[in-house]
Amino acid sequence: MAISEKEIQNVVAAVLKELNTGSKPAAAAVKPQGEWDSTQYRGRKFKGIYSDMNEAIAAANEGYKAVRRMTLAEREKILAEIRRLTREEAPIMAVMGVAETGMGRVDHKTAKHMLVADKTPGTADITAEVKTGDDGLTLLERAPFGVVGAITPSTNPSETVICNSMGMIAAGNGVVFNPHPNAIATSNYAVDLVNRASKLGGGPDVLVASMDKPTMESAAVMQSHPLIKLLVCTGGPGVVRAVLSSGKKAIGAGAGNPPVIVDDTADIQKAGKDIIDGCSFDNNLPCIAEKECFAFASIMEELMTAMQKNGAYKITAQQADELAKVVLVDKQGKDGKVHKVINRKCVGRDAKVLLGMIGVQVNDDIRCIICETGFEHPFVQEELMMPILPIVRVENIDQAIDWAVKAEHGNRHTAHMHSKNIENLSRFAYAVETTIFVKNAPSYAGIGFGGEGHTTFTIAGPTGEGLTSARSFTRWRRCVMKDAFRII
Ligand code: NAD
Repeated sequence: MAISEKEIQNVVAAVLKELNTGSKPAAAAVKPQGEWDSTQYRGRKFKGIYSDMNEAIAAANEGYKAVRRMTLAEREKILAEIRRLTREEAPIMAVMGVAETGMGRVDHKTAKHMLVADKTPGTADITAEVKTGDDGLTLLERAPFGVVGAITPSTNPSETVICNSMGMIAAGNGVVFNPHPNAIATSNYAVDLVNRASKLGGGPDVLVASMDKPTMESAAVMQSHPLIKLLVCTGGPGVVRAVLSSGKKAIGAGAGNPPVIVDDTADIQKAGKDIIDGCSFDNNLPCIAEKECFAFASIMEELMTAMQKNGAYKITAQQADELAKVVLVDKQGKDGKVHKVINRKCVGRDAKVLLGMIGVQVNDDIRCIICETGFEHPFVQEELMMPILPIVRVENIDQAIDWAVKAEHGNRHTAHMHSKNIENLSRFAYAVETTIFVKNAPSYAGIGFGGEGHTTFTIAGPTGEGLTSARSFTRWRRCVMKDAFRII
């Protein structure tokens, strides 16, 4: 990334100072008096926010018509403004995101916005294909769908809105958002940012649209509206299922539960640091973050010590059971049976806060909780989205792969491995079949943060687009020229 860690810390410090909140990134410290507003920020009224989904769709349709008329260079001008404003205002959105949702970390959310600004592909992602032969030339072009209906999560709210907008606009679409209600002010700040960028870049005042109070009902209106030609859903299994059964073309970016394997050939010191860096990133909110670890018994102690040297706090089996009673709660399922589900109050919270809930006091430098557990432990089986890493001891690579594949639950989302054994790496990658497979790096290398490749916060495993970009939001069109333009 072009921006250094130091620069990020400086801008975050400056924003926190401006908000007159002191230097603590904790939600309570940055939350101002009163609720966050989904229609304005500090007296500046947001552009493109509506109370009626039909009106929001009509506005997004006007945005689509405007984008369609634009040249690629004109679209790029708007994208350049989105990149610039995102970089400038990343710390504001990071502070808002933490304060509004109570989840994540300001410095990491700032870094995620910088990543979106720098590594979200633009119009260059839209490439054409051509076929020539005895019958002439056939051109295949990636065309826009029209107006896209996008559902976005609370875990990466403004990051997803901006990244989706960039890709969808680059591809020539309009977009209307039904953001997560728990992150609506942060999401709509991002919608307004895109619209301000549009104006600055020579586009319309309202290029993308959203709701002031999104609900399941407004999502339903969006899903059945005739002007919505493509649905893009980033969220948990419930919402992805709903969108995929809408009867419309849909891109589903669903839940993961990424396992990480460490075998006896890995650089254990590096693996320990990398895993804690990835697992604690934004307090484990990213769907790609390490959620459970399978470590060879022969290197288990060394790995845990390396993790402890890098900000991990090790709890006992008894403390793990106490913590499980706090972070998981009973809920009656549709089948009438009682299931363990995550306690939303614990999602994305600091490790220090979670430890405090079981009476353990630690310093601010503790960023992750580790514990040895069995394979069946709920910490292994549930997608916690908390900086808690269960580590399961395995005897050999067969057991590691077997359990890691089972813990991933067939999501085919993301998996990681630390090893220098090419055969072991290949075997796990083959068996787990995930969209992202990261070798010998923190999980975020898989979305372009310190790894090659573009970034996205919409990773579409279930519907197969993978790491979405502008081309994911297009449909193929074919144009045939008979008996001409083969010039060889
Ligand atoms: P969530 O599933 O709670 O909500 C997502 C959005 O869907 C919200 O706007 C919500 O109001 C709406 N929604 C929920 N049920 C719906 C329904 N039946 N119909 C219409 N709308 C509905 O998401 P969250 O808790 O904010 O995000 C966390 C989950 O999302 C995790 O499971 C995480 O792995 C996943 N996620 C996946 C990706 C990816 O790229 N694959 C990215 C981010 C998050």
